[in-house]
Amino acid sequence: MTDPSRATIAELRDLVVSGRMSASEICKAHLGRTRAVDDRVKAYRSVLERQALAEADAVDRARRESRPLGPLAGVPIAVKDVLCTQGTPTTCGSRILENFVPYYDATCVARLREAGAVIIGKTNMDEFAMGSSTENSAFEVTRNPWDLTRVPGGSSGGSAAAVAAGMVPAALGTDTGGSIRQPAALCGVPGLKPTYGRVSRYGLVAFASSLDQAGPFGRTVADVARILQVIAGHDPLDSTSAPEPVPDYLGGLERGIAGLRIGVPKEYFPAGLDAEVHGSVRAALAAAERLGASIDEVSLPHTEYAIPTYYIIATAEASSNLARYDGVRYGLRAAGAPDIAQLFRKTRNAGFGAEVKRRIMLGTYVLSSGYYDAYYLKGQKVRTLIRRDFEDAFRRVDLLITPTTPSAAFRIGEKVDDPLAMYLSDIFTVTINLAGLPGMSIPCGLTRDGLPIGAQIIGPRFGEDVVLRAAAALEGAMQFRDRHPPLPR
Ligand code: GLN
Repeated sequence: MTDPSRATIAELRDLVVSGRMSASEICKAHLGRTRAVDDRVKAYRSVLERQALAEADAVDRARRESRPLGPLAGVPIAVKDVLCTQGTPTTCGSRILENFVPYYDATCVARLREAGAVIIGKTNMDEFAMGSSTENSAFEVTRNPWDLTRVPGGSSGGSAAAVAAGMVPAALGTDTGGSIRQPAALCGVPGLKPTYGRVSRYGLVAFASSLDQAGPFGRTVADVARILQVIAGHDPLDSTSAPEPVPDYLGGLERGIAGLRIGVPKEYFPAGLDAEVHGSVRAALAAAERLGASIDEVSLPHTEYAIPTYYIIATAEASSNLARYDGVRYGLRAAGAPDIAQLFRKTRNAGFGAEVKRRIMLGTYVLSSGYYDAYYLKGQKVRTLIRRDFEDAFRRVDLLITPTTPSAAFRIGEKVDDPLAMYLSDIFTVTINLAGLPGMSIPCGLTRDGLPIGAQIIGPRFGEDVVLRAAAALEGAMQFRDRHPPLPR
């Protein structure tokens, strides 16, 4: 019998469709696994037990009544707590939204439900998706299932940890500068940030609107493709979602990578790169070569400006987006304020954590008159240069492969007092958001300490199909799938 806590989406759906296991039983198995391990991992903000069982029941009823079953029928999925879920709290990891209950679903959540998925819970995250470790959550720190003393990465750390710990076969995260790929790498699961505009941002609580994008984590590359298939595509409710047709991601998955030209950007393999990370990513490249791809060195010369550019643009947009939390329209309202200015001040002071305040101040500064040209405008220009680096590279190659992160999971507490060190954990991922490209992390090895290492596959705009194809080929070659975190069964 398939162990539902290790099964793929295809296996779970087959169980439901064939009647060998009901959606309710599958849901209960995942809830049971969650009860057994989540007091240690702390991936979830809220487990939607009653609602999930009701949704699973609806799938079982549909089957009994011979109604058509969607591509995710009965598949439990966890959703990062920054994506709105109708009638259930959506906190964004922040005190200021602690009691916020949206009255609508984010489009990507609605599409999951239409496909028959069972939304099983909302996952922990860094406050407003600002961070790389989940330590900026106002509520709890999620732990890395491979080593509970280490971070799962962030900001979608809860989603990555839930998948890695076998609590759910797939989850949604969001990625503004690395928040899907970095935790995917640190937790040893595949995770994909789609092209900007590929997935609707409607109902995704905004951090930096020109960078934010939602995407899937899964147990396998094929599962990531299955989820993307459901959530991708134009949405009239988000004017930045692209009207591009959605290809058949799953259909092309087995085509292999023979003949593909893979670029290796030399700036992503700096002299000080962690030796184990370097070794594992090189092994992935060697595997790609054995599968018939060609490997060429390329250069992305503006890479060194990526982190400052990202932290100017992202904070500028955040300072503007987060102006809406004023104690009047959403969530928290500070008591006892004598006038409206005091109400804003007290609410924001009580509701936001230190990192969010730091970003709002930075963003307000770079947008302020007198500094706008020197910082924000300059940042936009450098962003164009970074984007052009990629356009040039993609004239020569089909894909790029880099490490996802400069090191494996760091210890809880190690970087909390050093924001710059924390920001540097996204050094290989932020460029892809600045350029608006698709990027995916796949596990490519373990350190001697048993911590996962991720390789990042970057594609041209709307090239998710090629990215997934390469990921599937490498997944087969790297044989990581049989490795599991040392958690009790
Ligand atoms: N870690 C980066 C930041 O703190 C990226 C976050 C994200 O992608 N949401 O901004």
